[in-house]
Amino acid sequence: PFEYAPAPESRSVVDIKPSYGLFVGGEFVDGHGKAFKTVNPATEEVLAEVAEADEHDVDHAVKAARRAHRTWSRMPGAERAKYLYRIARIIAERSRELAVLESIDNGKPIKESRDVDVPIVSAHFFYYAGWADKLKYAGYGEQSLGVAAQIIPWNFPLLMLAWKVAPALACGNTVVLKPAETTPLTALLFAEICQQADLPAGVVNIVTGAGSTGQALVAHPDVDKVAFTGSTDVGKQIARTVAGTDKRVTLELGGKAANIVFDDAPIDQAVEGIVNGIFFNQGHVCCAGSRLLVQESVADDVLHRLKRRMATLRVGDPLDKNTDVGAINSAEQLARIRELSDIGEAEGAERWSAPCELPSHGYWFPPTLFTDVTQAHRIAREEIFGPVLSVLTFRTPAEAVAKANNTPYGLSAGVWTDKGSLILKMANALRAGVVWANTFNKFDPTSPFGGYKESGYGREGGRHGLEAYLR
Ligand code: NAD
Repeated sequence: PFEYAPAPESRSVVDIKPSYGLFVGGEFVDGHGKAFKTVNPATEEVLAEVAEADEHDVDHAVKAARRAHRTWSRMPGAERAKYLYRIARIIAERSRELAVLESIDNGKPIKESRDVDVPIVSAHFFYYAGWADKLKYAGYGEQSLGVAAQIIPWNFPLLMLAWKVAPALACGNTVVLKPAETTPLTALLFAEICQQADLPAGVVNIVTGAGSTGQALVAHPDVDKVAFTGSTDVGKQIARTVAGTDKRVTLELGGKAANIVFDDAPIDQAVEGIVNGIFFNQGHVCCAGSRLLVQESVADDVLHRLKRRMATLRVGDPLDKNTDVGAINSAEQLARIRELSDIGEAEGAERWSAPCELPSHGYWFPPTLFTDVTQAHRIAREEIFGPVLSVLTFRTPAEAVAKANNTPYGLSAGVWTDKGSLILKMANALRAGVVWANTFNKFDPTSPFGGYKESGYGREGGRHGLEAYLR
């Protein structure tokens, strides 16, 4: 093991305060719950103490959002657009700071937060700013829903915030957002950006805390809309909480995507897509290509090239711009990845991990693949949410479809083949909200994203994303 030494130059672009309050009514205020610590997962260093919002604080935030809704919802769309454009520009200007803070709090490689997360975050605000004055002409209802409760996970803290906040605000809603407890810092930096943009007080409120804060927010009687991204278990709980009320709900939940490689695929390109599909963001991706389905005739060749490529992945310091795979977000998540991997081995699958030196501190897991996997194995069915790939084979397109669809989830899938007709056939047969062809993990603000089956309902992104926030 080597000692982890953060790149001092990068770290110096962010100013992490020792403690943070809640953002309610345009100001930072104390929380009434028990403050909690957020940790750098690459070093286990405590970064800051963060306030926990209790029911009382949640009520204040909802009230602030309700007051702000009166003026925000009546403001001409072109005026709301000005604020969203301003936020988008400030995000772009402060992108380095946001990217470094995201990597420190989450553990993701800086080249991903810098080149993927933050640019798409800014793009979302630009995109929805453009919609704010065109809703009427596009034939949408003009009435906003009211106060939106938005609850997000830790894997893409800023990006999940942008997916939710930008369309809600464009349509005239106000929001109370709860970030995940392990990654609250960039949402709080976003609160500062709202202040810098002179966003009217109460349009965006941020309440930090654990599941209980989220629960209080979902149950609050004056919330009109709940938008949740997270695990399927919590999503079901939320659906039960709002059942029988007039709250609208959208749920973006878990996944177990199949990345399907046919024998006529450009193999090297497919191998890059497989690696990107499962090792991007340490596999902490709801739409990760966590199951590789490879046609039997090319399976040996694909696996040979895949292992060779995996052996070149650089695992380590998230702030090093050469790093490909960063830290696992938390000790709990690392324990879950280890447990499911051990179960995979115990159930008879063959484990192979890329040879790499892991840092001595922090939470790490090597890029890993399992062969000899059957559909009965838990690693073929359950979401691992880590850098672990389960490999299965197939002979015919029909068998590939049957295996790919044999999961309670349906968020995404990938198809690798030279035949356009096969791509179209597969895209229709796969029960997944997104099907990528000869690429993977491509995101764009203009495209809707969302699940089939237990991956949730409703769409975020594109014009479809507006429908979740309008009457
Ligand atoms: P999680 O469900 O444990 O937590 C998500 C958020 O919900 C957190 O902010 C958490 O504090 C809050 N929460 C927990 N219990 C709650 C409750 N009872 N009521 C209200 N809020 C509650 O999920 P996680 O571990 O943070 O994230 C990983 C999961 O998110 C994975 O399953 C992943 O697939 C999913 N995810 C889905 C998408 C998508 O777009 N479909 C995107 C990213 C992540």
